[in-house]
Amino acid sequence: MGEAKRQGNSGRIDVCSDFVIGWEEWVSLPDLGLPAIKAKVDTGAKTPALHASVIEPFGPADNPQVRFMLQPNPDNPDLEITCSAPVIDRRYVTSSNGDSEQRYVISTHIKIADRTWPIEVTLTDRSSMAYRMLLGRSAIDSDMVVDPNRSFIQPQLSFDLFRNIPHRKPIHRPLRIALLTREPENYSSRRLAEAARERGHVLEMIDTSRCYMRIGGTISEVHYDGKVLPRYDAVIPRIGASITAYGMAVLRQFASTGALCLNSAEAIGASRDKLLAHQLLARAGIGMPITTFANSPKDTRDLINIAGGSPVVVKLLESTQGRGVVLAETRKAAESLVDAFRGLDANFLVQEFVKEAGGSDIRCFVVGNKVVGAMMRSAAEGEFRSNLHRGGTARVVKLSRDERNVARLASRELGLSVAGVDILRSSEGPKVLEVNSSPGLQGIEAVTKKDVASQMIMLLESRVRPLSKTRDTITKRS
Ligand code: ADP
Ligand code: MG
Repeated sequence: MGEAKRQGNSGRIDVCSDFVIGWEEWVSLPDLGLPAIKAKVDTGAKTPALHASVIEPFGPADNPQVRFMLQPNPDNPDLEITCSAPVIDRRYVTSSNGDSEQRYVISTHIKIADRTWPIEVTLTDRSSMAYRMLLGRSAIDSDMVVDPNRSFIQPQLSFDLFRNIPHRKPIHRPLRIALLTREPENYSSRRLAEAARERGHVLEMIDTSRCYMRIGGTISEVHYDGKVLPRYDAVIPRIGASITAYGMAVLRQFASTGALCLNSAEAIGASRDKLLAHQLLARAGIGMPITTFANSPKDTRDLINIAGGSPVVVKLLESTQGRGVVLAETRKAAESLVDAFRGLDANFLVQEFVKEAGGSDIRCFVVGNKVVGAMMRSAAEGEFRSNLHRGGTARVVKLSRDERNVARLASRELGLSVAGVDILRSSEGPKVLEVNSSPGLQGIEAVTKKDVASQMIMLLESRVRPLSKTRDTITKRS
């Protein structure tokens, strides 16, 4: 294998070039403070790509920059370098597995042996790839030759070149957090602000409905009151049902500025769309009351049959606080209810009545992958709806393992990091009623005496990666 196999059979390749690189080479990226990184050379790809995580844009719109973290050695995740570079574009790139994603494009210099030249590089998560860098054909100058049969033709470097970087424990840095809410004074907002402050962070309340956006351009922005909002490390959405669609757009915009969103816009959308939510939960095998939806008034009778005849529960899809939930004790009552809702052009569902629940349901508060608190809400005398707004009362409840698992699975299935999962205890095990993406803190903290707000802030801390080392601390070796 030691023989140099130059591709002399094709006249197009300049065999006289004195700069030949193999299919893998050690390179350095001096502008980024990276003395050594192993690259795979692939002329099948156009633009070079570099592994990056925790990508954070910063700087003014006319001089956008990006900061990111990189682990140059796939075998040593402890070696982490923070880099920054000018952003020259943001592009959709389709990778070899066919996935398309929007990536930042930076310009930087690359150095192999004595030769240094400028290249464009896209930033992407390559943590699952063997090479932290991919050199595509746009980085190969016309006088260079790639020999795909050989590796390391040029001088080999080593990760030892990173040795002078001081190893520090990741620092706990204060986070800049935005709380998206239209009710800065309510209990949940105040508690979240308090918990964030106690843990050393800065939390700002932002009225979702007053945010506006500049969409397009290299850097995403959210505007408010005539100004561009600063970049936040994290966003806690508390988006009311009345502005779900606009709130989701605002949240997506925050996400594209690089802020971590405690619940994503997609997950909130899935939980608010009861039809979709039920379908997702059913797909995951999660128990729920038999639920029927229909569009046409012709199918009223059958709808009620499928939901178990009578009694059935008829719910307006927009219902909150139990307002649009009605128990129809007889088939006649059910039919007239359904007809009435249809007449009003309301969206509704018809559901099996879970009698054994005895007018009680269980609110499980999920943070991350954990149920951090649970309470049982019981309906007032003569009422089947347990909502506290309907006069229900709450008390602590001990969950079975099954109930705990169902709550975690339901929030995971909808993609929610923070969720209030409401469960009915039925003779067939736990049945999920609904999954709330902005669960209130007042009831659960009062009943369980737990600091749920701090749990939410701690989850943010664990998800926003600290930028631990700066490239300024790298001492270059000659
Ligand atoms: P909302 O979103 O308005 O709170 P829910 O679907 O949570 O509507 O229903 C309100 C309450 O009515 C529930 O907390 C529960 O106590 C009771 N309830 C709802 N659906 C059923 C059902 N299928 N069987 C028994 N009780 C139900
Ligand atoms: Mg409810």
